[in-house]
Amino acid sequence: MIRKTFLSAAVGAAMIMAPMATGQAAATTAPENPTTAATTVYYDDSGAPSYQSQIAQGVANWNNSVSNVQLVENASAATLDFYEGNDPNGSYAYTDGHGNGYIFLDHTQMGVYAPVRITAHETGHVLGLPDNYNGPCSELMSGGGPGPSCTNANPNADEIGRVNSLWANGRQGPGVFTRIAEPAVTAAF
Ligand SMILES: [Zn+2]
Repeated sequence: MIRKTFLSAAVGAAMIMAPMATGQAAATTAPENPTTAATTVYYDDSGAPSYQSQIAQGVANWNNSVSNVQLVENASAATLDFYEGNDPNGSYAYTDGHGNGYIFLDHTQMGVYAPVRITAHETGHVLGLPDNYNGPCSELMSGGGPGPSCTNANPNADEIGRVNSLWANGRQGPGVFTRIAEPAVTAAF
């Protein structure tokens, strides 16, 4: 009974506060698309200094495609980190699929395959999509399956729809972290 009364009071206070908070947000930080309530995932690319432009382009490809989640560079608030280095197992994402974790970009793989396709693909894992190496080049999550000649770095309509669906109710989780390995340079990422 006490708890219920307290919650009712809290809800009432929130409703009273809402108009002022909304007005302030509209006045100070007008979003590009104010009609959508996209969830923001902040990322830090300082651990991958060689690939900042490729990371930015891969992120932009997602931001321009989906409406329910957006990725924004902000090191102090980041839940997603990018790193670069050399790993015989290639690039990978260590993530829960809910915007948390990190992406490792392998130097050799980044030199063989279209680098923006790799950054966008790995970002797709962090947004919740699995690999589908047997898919066509038009599918981002087919990764290195179509071979190094595939330079498409944009998700297709199905992938866009799935990510929008996964983020339709805001940020979920955190979930279970797994390393989504990308089989070596000659196979796939
Ligand atoms: Zn992958």
